[in-house]
Amino acid sequence: MTVYRNSINGAWCESRGTRRVANINPANTADVLGETPLSTREEAVAALDAAAAAFAGWRRTPAPRRGEIVTRAARLLAERKEAIARTLVREEGKILSEALGEVQRSINIAEFAGAHGRRLTGQTIPLELPENLGYTIRQPLGVVSLITPWNFPAAIPVWKIAPALVSGNTVVFKPATITPATAALVVECFIEAGVPPGVLNMIYGSGNEIGDVLIDHPAVRAVSFTGSTEIGLDVYRRAAARGIRAQCEMGGKNPVIVMEDADLDLAVAGVFAGAFGSTGQRCTATSRVILMHPVADAFLERIVTLTRAMRLGDGLQPGIDMGPCVDAAQMHKVLDYVAVARAEGAELLCGGARADAGDLARGCFVEPTIFDRARPEMRISCEEVFGPVLAAIRVESFAEAMAAANTSEFGLTSSIYTRDVSHVFRYIDEIETGITHVNSPTLGGEAQMPFGGMKATGVGPREQGVEVFDFYTETKAVYIDYTGIRREGKLY
Ligand code: NAP
Repeated sequence: MTVYRNSINGAWCESRGTRRVANINPANTADVLGETPLSTREEAVAALDAAAAAFAGWRRTPAPRRGEIVTRAARLLAERKEAIARTLVREEGKILSEALGEVQRSINIAEFAGAHGRRLTGQTIPLELPENLGYTIRQPLGVVSLITPWNFPAAIPVWKIAPALVSGNTVVFKPATITPATAALVVECFIEAGVPPGVLNMIYGSGNEIGDVLIDHPAVRAVSFTGSTEIGLDVYRRAAARGIRAQCEMGGKNPVIVMEDADLDLAVAGVFAGAFGSTGQRCTATSRVILMHPVADAFLERIVTLTRAMRLGDGLQPGIDMGPCVDAAQMHKVLDYVAVARAEGAELLCGGARADAGDLARGCFVEPTIFDRARPEMRISCEEVFGPVLAAIRVESFAEAMAAANTSEFGLTSSIYTRDVSHVFRYIDEIETGITHVNSPTLGGEAQMPFGGMKATGVGPREQGVEVFDFYTETKAVYIDYTGIRREGKLY
């Protein structure tokens, strides 16, 4: 049985931790890929010490050279795209086309970040004093801890590791315990691309047990976390207590508004993709559709027809539309939410049960599920399900639609389907999400665009885009006086 190895100071090493967690294929729980070791706190400290020791050398490596290494990692990811995607399907469950898309996104992000090594610029700023020069430089922070969830086990690590390294930081990366194999393949690409020993370290282990070490170690200057709101806020509090930077991207409950003038085919296709793509296990998944009354019946009839025709199964098999939930715990959580929604009085239109016919019984499959007549205050409309469940809320006006969309404590992404330009711009102005779409699904994002949420979804600066470099660098303001004359009068 493969036991995944930590990568510390440039060496792949077996963990001394005695406990392990099986890496189980959620489409067929008899298929065990390997075991994730639960590393000890001492091993986490060793990874952080290695990162601290490597910082001086990496900091002095010119940014264009750091960028070249990350660009080389992008090429290796591209060469290994198919193999990485297949491993991802086996341990996370999404279908192969989605996994290939995720790896492609990782490549795009690494290319974008790598190229930024030549653009890690500051500003020259005019000063009030004559013959004085003002400018800013960007400098790395030091050791950064990166903590990632299971649902994008390739892309999320890359969107943290690549800009952190280009900025000149050294890294300790802790992947989610249940998706260890993809993380190892990603880290291999960076190490083989030429990242020096100690600059990028990966440690497996329970977040519960070693998470605090990754925040509290004195060398750590910043933490970038993606995962649930509950744990993210705890990470944020710990980082604040030490006075270090934190960026936490957390849960979502993304709405789509369908106005009465919408292109209904486009809206149905967009909401369908958003709700059931990646089994609804995306932070950007559509979990609420807010329908204007005149189009509600027609919209729901069409989307229910598409949903009932979905083929569930192992994502490596051809012709499959949707894979399983990531594990049995997640499957039961989704089924519990179905029961909650029914008890609250939402009307079940399709799905709502475990899918266990034939081979599906071997895996953690839930039928794609749609509820009608959810009300904004119901738990099914407010809490993150993180599975293939869509709640439809019927409204009478644009104002009511906006109120329903903004009721959520979360604020990652959103969309509106309409042809009315006045509604489009009012919506963009008023919607409380960090990302928004018009006439397209809530999903996705491009490497050069900032990514992150408002309200309970996100704290700290955005990821991706050029904004991410504000998180991973310090700005130093430099004043140079070339008059050689002692300054008279008041200094301020
Ligand atoms: P999670 O349970 O919060 O875990 C995320 C990571 O945190 C894992 O590596 C986990 O380790 C670690 N962790 C657990 N306890 C910790 C602690 N006390 N201190 C430090 N780290 C700790 O989230 P998940 O279930 O993996 O992921 C699903 C969630 O991620 C959803 O809420 C989803 O919306 C969110 N997400 C958000 C975005 C975004 O950009 N907003 C993107 C993707 C996913 P273990 O694996 O060992 O528990």
